[in-house]
Amino acid sequence: MTEFLTVFLISYVLHALGVTIGYHRLLSHRSFSCPRIVEYFWVMLGYLAFEGSPIWWATIHRAHHRHVDTSLDPHSPKFGYYNAHVGWLAGDGYASHIDPAIQSKDLINDPLYSVLEQGGSWRRAHITAFIIGVVFRLFVLVVFGWVAAIASLLAAVAVLQIPLLLNVICHFPRLGYKNYARDDDSVNVWWVAVLAMGEGWHNNHHAFPGSAKTGMQPWEFDLSWQIIKLMKKVGMASRLNVAVPNNTIVSVTD
Ligand SMILES: [Zn+2]
Ligand SMILES: [Zn+2]
Repeated sequence: MTEFLTVFLISYVLHALGVTIGYHRLLSHRSFSCPRIVEYFWVMLGYLAFEGSPIWWATIHRAHHRHVDTSLDPHSPKFGYYNAHVGWLAGDGYASHIDPAIQSKDLINDPLYSVLEQGGSWRRAHITAFIIGVVFRLFVLVVFGWVAAIASLLAAVAVLQIPLLLNVICHFPRLGYKNYARDDDSVNVWWVAVLAMGEGWHNNHHAFPGSAKTGMQPWEFDLSWQIIKLMKKVGMASRLNVAVPNNTIVSVTD
């Protein structure tokens, strides 16, 4: 049991950081810079939690910010909770107003991401992510045994739920609070921040989407930001965009 819990917890934190640091703050928002190998490390940790194509994920997320809580938002709970949770995943390909060739120009020519994108087919890209995720667990099985393999698989499945849950909970005004008055429904929810490595401070994030730091108040602990800061300290990140109290974002490069 101890082995199971240890592997589960470590895997959960690493895969969740792969989603928050890799897919979200790095690919979707370019809130900091780092060497390509470091970027791939974080993104692949998220990929192994069955998150699907990085280009697809970032493009959909950018559309969410661009059209937040309007009818063009891919997953706003304003238009149904089921749709905001998993219903929006039913279609294959992109909606007509979402085009990675236009909105994710910085990602589409990357050799790794373009292979994982599978020509823009959501289903093919997710089947590819599923197969690679299972092969990775078979590797864990051979090297570390079945307890570690099952713990790793369950941690990945748990991490997969987090962004889906966040899409609904953090756009449900009654479940959280706002630091910043905005037209959208985004709110900060402390327990989502715990489960999602700091991403639950979602009203802050919608106020400053380009900021690598989302916890703004002293009590708003943001593990992903602490890791990004540590990366900067040890030379693994070269530029951090950080929101500051006068409602602007500054780049820290020294
Ligand atoms: Zn949002
Ligand atoms: Zn975002």
